[in-house]
Amino acid sequence: MRDTFNRKIDYLRISITDRCNLRCRYCMPEEGVPSVGHGQVLSFEELFRVARIAVENGVRKIRLTGGEPLVRKGLIPFVERLSQLPQQPELSLTSNGLLLADQAVELKRVGLQRVNISLDTLNPQRFEQITRRPGLDQVLAGISAAETAGLWPLKLNMVPIRDVNSAEIADFARLTFKHDWQVRFIEFMPVTGGLDYPPESRVPADEIFEIISAIGPLKQIERKGPAGPARLYQFEGAKGVVGVIPAVSDHFCGECNRLRLTSDGFLRPCLFCDDEVDLRTPLREGCSDEELAQLLSGAVQIKPERHRIAEEPVVADRRRKMQGIGG
Ligand code: SAM
Ligand code: SF4
Repeated sequence: MRDTFNRKIDYLRISITDRCNLRCRYCMPEEGVPSVGHGQVLSFEELFRVARIAVENGVRKIRLTGGEPLVRKGLIPFVERLSQLPQQPELSLTSNGLLLADQAVELKRVGLQRVNISLDTLNPQRFEQITRRPGLDQVLAGISAAETAGLWPLKLNMVPIRDVNSAEIADFARLTFKHDWQVRFIEFMPVTGGLDYPPESRVPADEIFEIISAIGPLKQIERKGPAGPARLYQFEGAKGVVGVIPAVSDHFCGECNRLRLTSDGFLRPCLFCDDEVDLRTPLREGCSDEELAQLLSGAVQIKPERHRIAEEPVVADRRRKMQGIGG
C-alpha cells in the first residue's frame, strides 16, 4: 500500500486492549481512563481478520501493544494464529514487562520474535512515583525472561522526563556495555492535556545525545533494513546499542510506514492526528474482505504528510490518550 506522499505502508500496530496494570504519569491519569466497553473491544477473531487482510495487502510487520497487551487473556493463541499467516509477518510486542516473566517462553514458542520493554527508571521508589505502582523487580525479571527466551533483539524504551528521571539517562546508556540490548530514549510527547508532566519536561534529543556522548567515544550505526525512527549509536567496546528517538523535535514523518488499529476497532493513520476510520461497524455488519481492504486503503490515503506536535503541543481534549492508541 502506498499513500498520497508515496510512502510505503507496511507496518500495523495493533492495540489489543486499552487496559493497563500501571498508571504512568505521562500516559494515564491516576484513575485510569474510562475503559472501552467490553462489547466495543474487538474480539481476537475480529482483530485477526483485520490483521490478515492487512497482511494480504502488503503489511509485513505487526506490533502488538496496548494499554498493556499482556493483561488480555487469549494473547498467546492470537500470536500463534498471526505467526501461521502464510506471508509470515514480523511479529513484535511492546510491554511494560510486568507480566513478561510468566509469558516470555510461551510467546516465543508461538512465534513472537521481538519485544520492546518500557522502563523509565532503575530506582524502585522512582518507578513507583512514575508508574503509581510498585513493580520494578517484576519488570527486571521480565527483561531477563525475555532475553533467556530468545526474544531478540531486545529493546528497552526509556522516556526521559526533566527533573524526574533525566539524571538516569547516562545509567541507562551504560547498560549497553554489559548487555546486548538496544536502549532507546524516546522524547516525551506532550500529546494529552491533564497529565502530570508539562511540555517543558521534554528532554530534547540533542540534549540526550550530549549526555550520552559525554560517557565515552560513540560511533553512529548505519540502520539496516526498513527505516525506523531511532538514531543509533554504539560505545567503543559495548555489546549493545543506544538509540535516540526525536519523536517531537525532528519528526520522521517522511519515513513513516505505520497504521494503528485501536482496540475498539478504529484505524488511525497518524499517532498525533485524531482522524480515524471505523472498522468495527462494517466488521459487525458483515462486510466482505474486499470492503475491509478498501477501508484499509482509504485510511492509508488520508495519512497526513506530517504531524505538528512541536508547533501545537498539548491537545487537551484529545479523543484518546496514549494508552488508547498504543504509542
Ligand atoms: N503498556 C505498554 C508499554 O508501556 O510498553 C504498551 C503501551 S505504551 C502506550 C507504549 C509506549 O508509549 C511506551 O514505551 C510508553 O513509554 C510510551 N509513551 C506513553 N506515553 C508517552 C508520552 N506522552 N510520550 C512518550 N512516550 C510515551
Ligand atoms: Fe500502561 Fe504503557 Fe501507558 Fe504505562 S505507558 S500507563 S504501562 S500503557
